[in-house]
Amino acid sequence: HVVVVGSINMDMVSHSRRLPAPGETLMGEAFVMAPGGKGANQAVAAARLGARVGFVSRVGTRAHGRELLAALAEEGVDARGVQQDETALPGIAVIMVASEGGENSIVYVPGSNAQLLPADVQAAAPLLQAARVVVAQLEVPVPAIRCAFEMARAAGVITILNAAPALAEGAELLPLCDWLVLNETEAAQFAGLAVGGLAEAEAAAQALLARGPRQVLVTLGAQGALLADAAGLQLLPARAVKAVDTVGAGDTFVGGLATGLAEGMSPVEAVRLGQAAAAIAVSRSGVQSAMPRRSELQP
Ligand code: ADP
Repeated sequence: HVVVVGSINMDMVSHSRRLPAPGETLMGEAFVMAPGGKGANQAVAAARLGARVGFVSRVGTRAHGRELLAALAEEGVDARGVQQDETALPGIAVIMVASEGGENSIVYVPGSNAQLLPADVQAAAPLLQAARVVVAQLEVPVPAIRCAFEMARAAGVITILNAAPALAEGAELLPLCDWLVLNETEAAQFAGLAVGGLAEAEAAAQALLARGPRQVLVTLGAQGALLADAAGLQLLPARAVKAVDTVGAGDTFVGGLATGLAEGMSPVEAVRLGQAAAAIAVSRSGVQSAMPRRSELQP
């Protein structure tokens, strides 16, 4: 099975014609509340694709926390590794979207995600050690991820770090990664190189590969993904689809990659599973609600 160690939060999204100016009150057109957080998103993506998924996280059960737990259960994600904190608020993302032009402004309040401790990860040791693949992102504290990856490594479990957001503290995890997955911007930031075209992405991938991971995968949006490993570099093109909403493409991709690796696929096959799932997700609006089930992936 796959174990995801990461964040969970509620996204609160308002849609208005334009974004308000400081101090201004605007009438909105719509409001949607939906579960999010890179950790929860990747867990749901993998579960929809047929993986057995365990989630290790910390959720404040005040306010909307219980709804977040109910949503995980509905997706069939095993939440025994989720610590529930009755005194804390869950993570909340307040998102304003302008219907004219699609611009957005976001305030992210991490809440209980910032309190995930190595001890919480230790408590989920049996789940982690029995996994085939462990996945983490950088929306929870690095010491917790380090604890999970050290445990995974000792048990021969494949580790995937999705270095999003590209926090500098995450660099200490590179020697513990089998896979490092990041988008173009994150790859450049993480490698300390210029953001640019394919040549810059290749340089970043190679620089990051030298720092420990066995595979570095740089996602390039509609262009696809660049895979770097000991054998060299290869560009795996994305499927051509009409993109409607690309938010969450990376999370769907990582969920698919983890699912493929847990099924014993080769690196390239697992990347293709992630790409096929992400192509469907970007052709629909929403994040978790746009993620496909395995049955939709047949050619
Ligand atoms: P992120 O959401 O982290 O910025 P990307 O935008 O690079 O990640 O997308 C991740 C993967 O999703 C890509 O490698 C690609 O396979 C797929 N994808 C993203 N955008 C598109 C698109 N417009 N058309 C087809 N596939 C896409």
